[in-house]
Amino acid sequence: TKEDVKSYLFRNAFVLLTVTAVIVGTILGFALRPYRMSYREVKYFSFPGELLMRMLQMLVLPLIVSSLVTGMAALDSKASGKMGMRAVVYYMTTTIIAVVIGIIIVIIIHPGKGSKENMHREGKIVQVTAADAFLDLIRNMFPPNLVEACFKQFKTNYEKKSFKVPMSPNETILASVINNVSEAMETLTRIKEEMVPVPGAVNGVNALGLVVFSMCFGLVIGNMKEQGQALKDFFDCLNEAIMRLVAVIMWYAPLGILFLIAGKIVEMEDMGVIGGQLAMYTITVIIGLLIHAVIVLPLLYFLVTRKNPWVFIGGLLQALITAVGTSSSSATLPITFKCLEENNGVDKRVTRFVLPVGATINMDGTALYEALAAIFIAQVNNFELNFGQIITISITATAASIGAAGIPQAGLVTMVIVLTSVGLPTDDITLIIAVDWFLDRLRTTTNVLGDSLGAGIVEHLSRHELKNRDAEMGNSVIEE
Ligand code: ASP
Repeated sequence: TKEDVKSYLFRNAFVLLTVTAVIVGTILGFALRPYRMSYREVKYFSFPGELLMRMLQMLVLPLIVSSLVTGMAALDSKASGKMGMRAVVYYMTTTIIAVVIGIIIVIIIHPGKGSKENMHREGKIVQVTAADAFLDLIRNMFPPNLVEACFKQFKTNYEKKSFKVPMSPNETILASVINNVSEAMETLTRIKEEMVPVPGAVNGVNALGLVVFSMCFGLVIGNMKEQGQALKDFFDCLNEAIMRLVAVIMWYAPLGILFLIAGKIVEMEDMGVIGGQLAMYTITVIIGLLIHAVIVLPLLYFLVTRKNPWVFIGGLLQALITAVGTSSSSATLPITFKCLEENNGVDKRVTRFVLPVGATINMDGTALYEALAAIFIAQVNNFELNFGQIITISITATAASIGAAGIPQAGLVTMVIVLTSVGLPTDDITLIIAVDWFLDRLRTTTNVLGDSLGAGIVEHLSRHELKNRDAEMGNSVIEE
């Protein structure tokens, strides 16, 4: 109908706008680089991007809770159990495939030839043991205070520190002509964030803890039948309202993405520090992620559903680009919901149930990255890994990807687990920090793709339960 055509054009105009934003952002970023903006100027410049991040993060908490509670409550425990099993099997299989690809690719290409002595280091690593990191993961699943979990960071042993880097001569002159003394003092050194970010710090939410609670809560409400109806309606309505807010934010997204990307390009280190090994390493990661995202996942989707994966991925474009812009799968979550439900027509009972969990624990890109990076670090140390150690790396990389929060560079932090498990120096994480901001965007995109295709696959596998459920509920409940 005419309406359909109109909405089709509308949606494509939207994707076009977002793609344009990426291109313009990239060009703008490179064009402004020669001006060597100060830290503060970069902050001002990327402000519209920061706003987008904040808006998305603002919605993540109510979205996770309302979608999981309604998602679980909409199914009886048997159906949700089955669906949950399928999701877990999908998560595990794809994560393990990703890890294996990472390992094979890094062994074949061997980017770590030569010594690490001529490699540039950035930042410092706070020492944490693998056991600490594991315990943190479990601890965070059970937040003692739910209200605190909504506002407070994911608690870990990791710290975020700031350190000062000397300014360029130009900046020093600039600072000295500024009259305001305190301002001059502030600009004298550019504050840079040291590695080791706090997982969850970016959205300030302990997503994992909320996921666990919301699932249990939703399950209970579902089992309460009529008695639970009021709560079901409440969370349903909340979810609907949040999704409407997402629709509004999506209009702002292209502008935000433009500035997120431009700002990052303006402030990134000069490419000069990226030596031969690091360049090879970057290429190896890109190849690994491409194999997983462009070949393995679409093929798996096709084999299971017999539907065209590229049509499905086409509907996800907006979410994938948002992942590139934000490097956070949780911040992208609202957009992922919108794309899957509206463009791809995935059943809401599936998305609500599968997406929040996926964004929190299913990270194929991160798993591939962690295994690959650990072996790269072994290579630059001329450390021969035996078969047992490679197996250890694959297991810990899987665990580390589950433990990583869906926030920028969380994967780099949980790498500590992988490195310590085979006795590699954790300090060597500093060797790969220079390119991590970039690779993070690519692995985040892979993570979002994996979650989304997973929702499509789980929906297909669960179609009978969903139909039965519809029949059971009568025609009174028609899922949009
Ligand atoms: N930034 C990634 C994500 O949000 C996690 C990671 O650092 O690998 O999915």
